[in-house]
Amino acid sequence: MSRIVLATRNAGKIRELETILRASLPDVEVVGLGEFPDLEDVVESGVTFEANATLKASYAARMTNLPAVADDSGLAVDVLGGAPGVFSARWSGRHGDDAANLRLLLDQLADVPDEHRGARFRCAAVLALPGGTTVCREGDFPGTLTREPRGTNGFGYDPILQVEGRTRTAAELSAEDKNAISHRGKAFRALAPEIARLLA
Ligand code: IMP
Repeated sequence: MSRIVLATRNAGKIRELETILRASLPDVEVVGLGEFPDLEDVVESGVTFEANATLKASYAARMTNLPAVADDSGLAVDVLGGAPGVFSARWSGRHGDDAANLRLLLDQLADVPDEHRGARFRCAAVLALPGGTTVCREGDFPGTLTREPRGTNGFGYDPILQVEGRTRTAAELSAEDKNAISHRGKAFRALAPEIARLLA
């Protein structure tokens, strides 16, 4: 059984990556940072999703001497030139305050007409090997921004992204339906064959 570290403490992300990897790597075990209490939180000082995911994956690979995967994601709004982007989790100034981040964004875009409310979640997933090799794959999840939050599933900006071609927001999808079309699902599925290749 080969082990891969996923540089997160989020149990949902660990299950999601393990499910995706099982298809191409039946013997892989995905472990989270909970197994390595001495690892510190990496400062996400990059200005792109790829840079931040690479910082997190490389640090985890170096410290554990195991292949490590990390992801970094956020919301890119067309009319804001891709912002909040890597600042998505701290857009309102308070890291991780989903309600405040989403409210600020809706207020900033109050006068933007429906035809210019395009946005997408983006995710970079990076595999880092202890020797220093890295591979990155990206995925996106396009839609349009609503005027008020709808739905109670998911997290972050899910309640205000109406999924492209659908009437529902990402927060009105089940976790399974969201994973099938989400930025993170796409990035992890694109990275899986690379992981299989490099671990073979
Ligand atoms: P992280 O990559 O998990 O740290 O996510 C960064 C931030 O981007 C989160 O705090 C959310 O604000 C936003 N974000 C990333 N992915 C999603 C998603 O699937 N739904 C809603 N918000 C997301």
